[in-house]
Amino acid sequence: MITKFIKRILRRDPMVKHTQANNTGAPKRIAKKAHHIDPHLLSKNAVKVTDTLQQAGYEAFIVGGAVRDLVLGIGPKDFDVATNATPEQVQRLFRKARLIGRRFQIVHVTFFGKGHPEIIEVSTFRALLDNAGDHVAESGRILRDNVWGSQGEDAARRDFTINAMYYDPSSETVLDYHGGMADMQKKTLRMIGDPAKRYREDPVRMLRAIRFAAKTGFTLEQATRAPIAKLSKLLQDVPSARLFDEILKLLMSGYSWAAIQGLRDAGLHHGLLPLLDHILDSGEDSKGANNFVKLALANTDQRIQSGKSVSAGFLFATLLWPDLYKNWKANLAKGMANIPALHDAMDETIETQSSGITIQRRFESDMREIWSMQPRFEKRVGRYPYRLIESPRFRAGYDFMLLRCATGEQNAALGQWWTDFIAAEPAGQDALMASAKTESGGIAGSPVKRRRRRKPKSDIPAEPEAS
Ligand code: ATP
Ligand code: MG
Repeated sequence: MITKFIKRILRRDPMVKHTQANNTGAPKRIAKKAHHIDPHLLSKNAVKVTDTLQQAGYEAFIVGGAVRDLVLGIGPKDFDVATNATPEQVQRLFRKARLIGRRFQIVHVTFFGKGHPEIIEVSTFRALLDNAGDHVAESGRILRDNVWGSQGEDAARRDFTINAMYYDPSSETVLDYHGGMADMQKKTLRMIGDPAKRYREDPVRMLRAIRFAAKTGFTLEQATRAPIAKLSKLLQDVPSARLFDEILKLLMSGYSWAAIQGLRDAGLHHGLLPLLDHILDSGEDSKGANNFVKLALANTDQRIQSGKSVSAGFLFATLLWPDLYKNWKANLAKGMANIPALHDAMDETIETQSSGITIQRRFESDMREIWSMQPRFEKRVGRYPYRLIESPRFRAGYDFMLLRCATGEQNAALGQWWTDFIAAEPAGQDALMASAKTESGGIAGSPVKRRRRRKPKSDIPAEPEAS
């Protein structure tokens, strides 16, 4: 009897190693009539995960951003589950479960349904690391994070109060440790604990603050906002790949323009992406760049908000374009031919960019393809348009060209021509080809190089060259 009891306790208490219990207090229990979460917004798979864990005797909750979004009445884009089962214990309960991460070990439980497979991220309650010296770098940055703890500790180590609520789908109760629900009502983004200390532990939290403020439209509470300006340089210590992921999330949040303004207001944009420096510079000089990027981001936000996909390669191609365009024009002014001038400018732009966060290779090749397609849109003779339309990234290159038309950098008639060309039947395409004037070559406004015509053998004068 007693061994059975001990076994049960051991199974239910997964604290492999744990720090001193912290004074995290009891949570507020919020019933349905106060949180109004619509169960239809829940992922069935996330509920399957919490049910399975609970039936096996563990505690399990939907947690973090999903609860925040549910309370806001928004369907979360992904679901995280927190439990007192260890990663190994979680893994044993699901057929398709993978242990991932070293610094922050979690389990990915995958479900295959009609559309894309859905991954539910399951993490074990983590301890506060106040006393775990060997896990923290001198600057205060957390290096490893696999010490299991109680739910209260897990809540205290999350970032914002609105991100630290736990929802139990079976009882439809929200557990709120840090006044997240009150902050939701006040539309306030508040860091849990001492904000400066929390930013030192993980400087990425400064970027998260800006992203969530843009996404929710909430205001950063004064004490949460105040230390950011002084601590912004800590972002330099964050590994480039992590910064890149965070910037990508920010740009893909559906509120990228607002988030970028937020970065500027908080003085956080310097050194992240050199291009952001001058995009956000309000000088007369960068007006054109500003317009292009603003339009591109507004376009991205609109696509994301209406549930469409956006490729990161496309997005970065737009952000770097003003710089590249400037370099291209400078090369032409030096007398370089159009295409080599473009390729040289591409190298130069990417080179400059790599002094900030590094854009991953896989996006770089997309970017180069989109850029190098641009002069090809101007060639509307012979087989060129048919060949261009067949290239795998044509759609992205075309969308990009339309953006250039919308800002007046490229001739709007060219954009319309391509729109008609894509939609036309073969006969219509031939007619459009015939209607197209000869190639204009080069970027809009640049001098056009023409092949010299051979002198006609007869006396019949040659047709005048189309202009
Ligand atoms: P979204 O998925 O909409 O971008 P989210 O809040 O779910 O937002 P995630 O990065 O998915 O963000 O993280 C899930 C949860 O994990 C957060 O809500 C927060 O509680 C916690 N968390 C994530 N990153 C950190 C961090 N750097 N510091 C503290 N807590 C974090
Ligand atoms: Mg999330």
